[in-house]
Amino acid sequence: MINRSKRFARKAVKVDHAQNLIMQHVLQLENEYTSIDSCLHRRISEPLFSKDCMPHFRRSGLDGYAVWSKDALFATPQNPACLRVIDEVPAGYTSNKQVVPGTAIRIMTGSAVPDGADAVIMFEQTEEYQEEGQVSIRIKHKVAHGQNITKVGDEITTGQLLMGAGTRIGPGQIALLASMGYKEVPVFRRPVVGVLTTGSELISVGEPLQPGRIRNSNVYMLVAQIEQYGGLAVKIGTAPDDIDEVNRTINNTLEECDMLIVSGGVSVGDYDVMADFFTTTSGNDTTLLFNKIAMRPGSPTTAAVINNKLVFGLSGNPGACFVSFELLVRPVLLAMQGIESPCKHYIQAIITNDYDKGCPHDRYIRGRMIYSNEQVKVSVLEKNNSSMLISIQDANCIIMIPAGSKGIAAGQQVEVIPLPYEFTMY
Ligand code: AMP
Ligand code: MG
Repeated sequence: MINRSKRFARKAVKVDHAQNLIMQHVLQLENEYTSIDSCLHRRISEPLFSKDCMPHFRRSGLDGYAVWSKDALFATPQNPACLRVIDEVPAGYTSNKQVVPGTAIRIMTGSAVPDGADAVIMFEQTEEYQEEGQVSIRIKHKVAHGQNITKVGDEITTGQLLMGAGTRIGPGQIALLASMGYKEVPVFRRPVVGVLTTGSELISVGEPLQPGRIRNSNVYMLVAQIEQYGGLAVKIGTAPDDIDEVNRTINNTLEECDMLIVSGGVSVGDYDVMADFFTTTSGNDTTLLFNKIAMRPGSPTTAAVINNKLVFGLSGNPGACFVSFELLVRPVLLAMQGIESPCKHYIQAIITNDYDKGCPHDRYIRGRMIYSNEQVKVSVLEKNNSSMLISIQDANCIIMIPAGSKGIAAGQQVEVIPLPYEFTMY
């Protein structure tokens, strides 16, 4: 028999305390190698250093002639320098000739500058002519030492740190990895996150609506959130509000996951089976971390460690489910992939509307921020109740309204948590 009174005897913890409790149980994931062809958005698992310098040869910045600058140090249209062209170097080739005084080598952008040359002059500033069957050039502009030559290691030196552990791989990282010969890239294994949705009212996305029943949107939202932060989501099922079925599903699948997220049933309603699950789960090594958080929405959010795996019970209300995930699950996913302080991702913004709903706890609402006049400005989106989901699509941040009886007035500074990746933080 379930002890229902236990449900009401919950002690609320603050959000940052809840985060700290969770962060102590983050699983360390092993790394793996993935092909550069499929590493986009993965996270680097160890600091990567340059294997070579870049460029690794003196490189011509343009199409022209490699010359000895002293030959044309004072060249003018009236007093041009005349040089004999002794070779040419297409990109990808090197010359085995040396530029000596009085000579030039024709050279293309990206080619290795031949020995002896210390400058490159662009074609447009030269004039070609023939003399005794020999191609020569006239240079009518003065040439400076080093001009149009990129020095060895100018961009990257050998052994330089390229990117730290936890770096998210984007196009820039991929270009760098390719140029440095990383055909296989060391990345963190993707955290495997099981998603269980509970609720006897849930029907699947393909089913027509029926009285009292709703389509299961949380499962898709959670899978998307997990994948957005690099996780590998596994839909482990949809269970009715039945403790035995919930128990069975979790026990059968926990082993295969690094972490588990359950939506629905964590509150104090008669059929809120997750509340019972967390207090009665047997046959497992379970530590309840908290079952109430001093926040709105999502106050009954629960977390436990079962057989060394974090298990989250999130509210079934879509708005609450979304926000609780961002506050509590996102940091875990990021920490598993090498981010050291994943909870400290607030930025300051000026709120543009009054929000006069007072609340004894910090409130996290969906907002839209923009950058204007050198300030981040944020507005509260309409239809922001925890039961509503329509505003999630427009949200690019979560606004924190501090606990208090009055809410907050337009023009005040607030803390916001940016959502990926419109205002990228990691
Ligand atoms: P619960 O957390 O089970 O008390 O559910 C709170 C509200 O969220 C109820 O109105 C549920 O019908 C709704 N809800 C629960 N699970 C889902 C889901 N997977 N997708 C959409 N809404 C849900
Ligand atoms: Mg329910």
